[in-house]
Amino acid sequence: MKTALRTDITVEDICKGFVYNELEGKGLFGLSGTLTIQPEYQRNYIYADGKRDVAVIDSILKAYPLGLIYFNKTADNKFEILDGQQRITSIGRFVTNKFAIKDENGMQQYFSGIASDKQNLILQTKLLIYECEGTESEIKEWFKTINIAGIPLNNQELLNAIYSGPFVTLAKEEFSNSQNANIQKWSAYISGSVNRQDFLERALDWVSKGNTNDYMSRNRFNDNINELKTYFNSVIDWVSGVFTDVESEMRGLEWGRLYETYRKQPYNPQTVSEQVKKLYADSYVKNRKGIFEFILGGSTDTKLLDVRIFDEATKKSIYAKQTTEAEKNGVSNCPLCAIGHDANKAKIWSLKDMDADHVTAWSKGGETDIRNCQMLCKTHNRAKGNK
Ligand SMILES: [Zn+2]
Repeated sequence: MKTALRTDITVEDICKGFVYNELEGKGLFGLSGTLTIQPEYQRNYIYADGKRDVAVIDSILKAYPLGLIYFNKTADNKFEILDGQQRITSIGRFVTNKFAIKDENGMQQYFSGIASDKQNLILQTKLLIYECEGTESEIKEWFKTINIAGIPLNNQELLNAIYSGPFVTLAKEEFSNSQNANIQKWSAYISGSVNRQDFLERALDWVSKGNTNDYMSRNRFNDNINELKTYFNSVIDWVSGVFTDVESEMRGLEWGRLYETYRKQPYNPQTVSEQVKKLYADSYVKNRKGIFEFILGGSTDTKLLDVRIFDEATKKSIYAKQTTEAEKNGVSNCPLCAIGHDANKAKIWSLKDMDADHVTAWSKGGETDIRNCQMLCKTHNRAKGNK
């Protein structure tokens, strides 16, 4: 790979013909049309937070180094930004009055409002740019290396770079586009940020059953995303059909796995809604995220709910009461052993060999209260299980 260091390009040069697409959240072009700011393997612009974008401009005004910027030379006088896209887009957006910075009096000022000597200082700042020229694989290898420094690309952003092509472009248009009207609906079930590719990551994870790498590799040159879209919509339609209420704990659950496991089961949304409400109102349920899978699975696996268990004081008190009584009657202190016919009929278990049990099961409305607690030997407690 050939590289050349350029120190002659100014902010003014870069900002000639600067185009920023608000809709897609991307800086598009600069350097009089010869520079592509956002090649498809680059992530969206994420500095627009009033902090990182402002910090770029502050650095220039204080003459702090902005760091190296890397261009990939794709043809004679044609470049793409390999690294530095966030910085360049911040500069371009500031110079075109897209955001403001605070001046020395704490007033918000757009570029057009700051003193002309400051405007000039910014425009005449020279950037430190490495021009690289090489094969696609060399460039991508390089891209992976330089991005280990700075804000690292997350996993999906890296995959988008590695498998860049028509499929990724179309997939990003659908799943990484914050202007997509469906995002709000989807965000009831998916956590994370559209810009950081979290929705795309979920969609790919679901359709590929967890084999995203493989799926992206196979579809890299596919010019449609029908399967990805259809599968994703099936999952979302299924969830929103079964659970008609939207609860914040639904966000980020493994809906792809749940869809695969339970989609063939019939559910009555009305009944499901009542079950959800009842479990939400139940103070013994510690893990509300488990409510949805609990219901899907037929309301039997209470482990999912992490139902509050009896505390040590309750266990000790019940143990003492049962043991005193049992010794008086010459039977086992495990009530189930006591009514049996084997060698344990009269066995007095130690506390550590017993477990607390809900006399009336929690799932049948039994409370986690001392009045509903009995101690059983471990064998009988396990055998009783979740009845
Ligand atoms: Zn027993």
